[in-house]
Amino acid sequence: MPSKPLVIITGASSGIGAATARLFSEAGHPLLLLARRVEPMESLGLPDCLCRAVDVMDLDGFRAAIAEAESRYGQTDCLVNNAGVMFCADPARQSVDEWQRMIDVNIRGLLNGIHLVLSGMIARQGGTIVNIGSIAGVKTFPKHAVYCGTKFAVHAITETIREEVSGSDVRLVNVAPGMVETDLVNSSTDQDARDGWWSYANQIGGALKPESIAQSILFAYQMPQSVCVREMIVCPTRQEP
Ligand code: NDP
Repeated sequence: MPSKPLVIITGASSGIGAATARLFSEAGHPLLLLARRVEPMESLGLPDCLCRAVDVMDLDGFRAAIAEAESRYGQTDCLVNNAGVMFCADPARQSVDEWQRMIDVNIRGLLNGIHLVLSGMIARQGGTIVNIGSIAGVKTFPKHAVYCGTKFAVHAITETIREEVSGSDVRLVNVAPGMVETDLVNSSTDQDARDGWWSYANQIGGALKPESIAQSILFAYQMPQSVCVREMIVCPTRQEP
């Protein structure tokens, strides 16, 4: 069995999650990687790594994958709650289905992860949950109403639970990225919103690489357990809003 403890990463099939998986693996951690698409996670080719096709809304599937990983690699020391979706659009035209999906994945999926690991961490008096918030969880952006709502919720949930479990030496960390070059915005059906995102990213010399967020997550995690980096807002220097 690897000497370092188990790290779980949701949404590890692309973008920030995949970059985080590579970095934590380089640091020697066994991993449980979760997303709906299993093939991109397996193709990372990481050692001591269990990849499972799990929708974070599927609490039983999520639980079963954690049990399988813990039976191989020991208890979970870190959960990176990263899975998320963003559909940007004019609120008068956006479908209720897109609103629902963002609320489901970004809030309820994240809560499922917390629910499944938190009590064990409290009992062991240690552990770290890194929730991926957003600059859109700190300030508002046009065409991002419900996405901002979900990320403001992530910030509130993280900070509230952090206070409640601090006495058990469990850390809750909010990493809030600015613009990162991933597939995230490409699923927006509003072409103007999509084009606007990439055009602004080009104008400022490019969005961040996902590896910069992965480094931020690893930094927070590798601080001693007595040090809690409560929140990191990590943006391209030239990103103005
Ligand atoms: P990507 O679209 O590249 O990655 C999103 C990941 O989430 C994918 O691996 C996807 O996998 C997974 N996912 C989506 N829905 C589910 C689900 N129901 N169950 C399990 N996994 C799911 O985007 P990013 O890497 O950019 O996004 C990662 C996080 O970073 C998100 O929370 C996002 O909100 C946040 N963020 C991103 C920013 C950016 O500019 N890119 C800025 C600020 C925050 P699959 O489709 O295989 O299920």
